[in-house]
Amino acid sequence: MNQLAGTLYILSAPSGAGKTSLVKALLQQDEQVVVSVSHTTRDMRPGEQDGVDYNFVTMDAFNALIEQGQFLEYAEVFGNKYGTSQQWVKEQLAAGRDVILEIDWQGAEQVRHLMPEAVTVFILPPSRAALRERLNARGQDSEAVIDGRMAEATSEMSHYPEYDYLLINDDFETALQQLASLFSARRLRQSAQQLKQAGLLEQLLSED
Ligand code: GDP
Ligand code: ADP
Ligand code: 5GP
Repeated sequence: MNQLAGTLYILSAPSGAGKTSLVKALLQQDEQVVVSVSHTTRDMRPGEQDGVDYNFVTMDAFNALIEQGQFLEYAEVFGNKYGTSQQWVKEQLAAGRDVILEIDWQGAEQVRHLMPEAVTVFILPPSRAALRERLNARGQDSEAVIDGRMAEATSEMSHYPEYDYLLINDDFETALQQLASLFSARRLRQSAQQLKQAGLLEQLLSED
């Protein structure tokens, strides 16, 4: 990995906690950040676009990609398969961009082993009732799918201790500001600034 490489962020949350909405808003205000578009075998929701929200593929196509070693990680979530493209992520990081992966805890575990420098963030809803309300309000999943996602939420949330940061998405603007602050703070790390501010540092340390 080159020294100017961007930071890899892993964001996990129970379905409906607001992860996708927060990431979308962050991308609009921070041009150094990109988000990985996963491959999935699940059905497209109304309003979703192939290649934008996900790369929607058949199970056969997904299995072929696994065999070709194209995934950095993949996992089965809610009976569907989801995976992250290895090549794209590595290219973006090498170009100095910060990359967000919106992936479940199983995927996070795999990436943590491969890239221990990744920064991991878990997003929680303010209550179970709010989580259900948000899944209902999104209006894109059937009652049965929502029941299944609420049941899965407990096991997903039990993995919060494995993450570096915890964010509560109660008031949206507050949560967005907190997420943005985290990205800003990481860029001020001495190791990152030493490279970005090399010219200034050299000038400041030279005798008149
Ligand atoms: P939503 O999170 O409720 O909008 O539902 P999605 O269908 O978008 O995502 C379903 C689950 O799959 C979530 O737990 C995601 O974090 C997870 N997921 C999405 N993309 C990936 C991926 O590329 N890899 C892995 N491992 N999990 C993913
Ligand atoms: P996820 O990607 O985690 O499944 P979404 O971003 O799709 O979650 O959000 C689920 C629903 O909750 C959406 O309808 C979204 O507009 C809404 N939502 C997200 N954050 C908040 C918040 N802080 N307060 C109220 N509703 C929210
Ligand atoms: P949804 O189907 O509602 O868009 O997403 C459901 C869950 O799948 C979310 O919790 C999301 O984080 C997870 N997910 C989406 N893409 C990936 C992926 O590429 N890898 C993994 N491991 N999980 C993913």
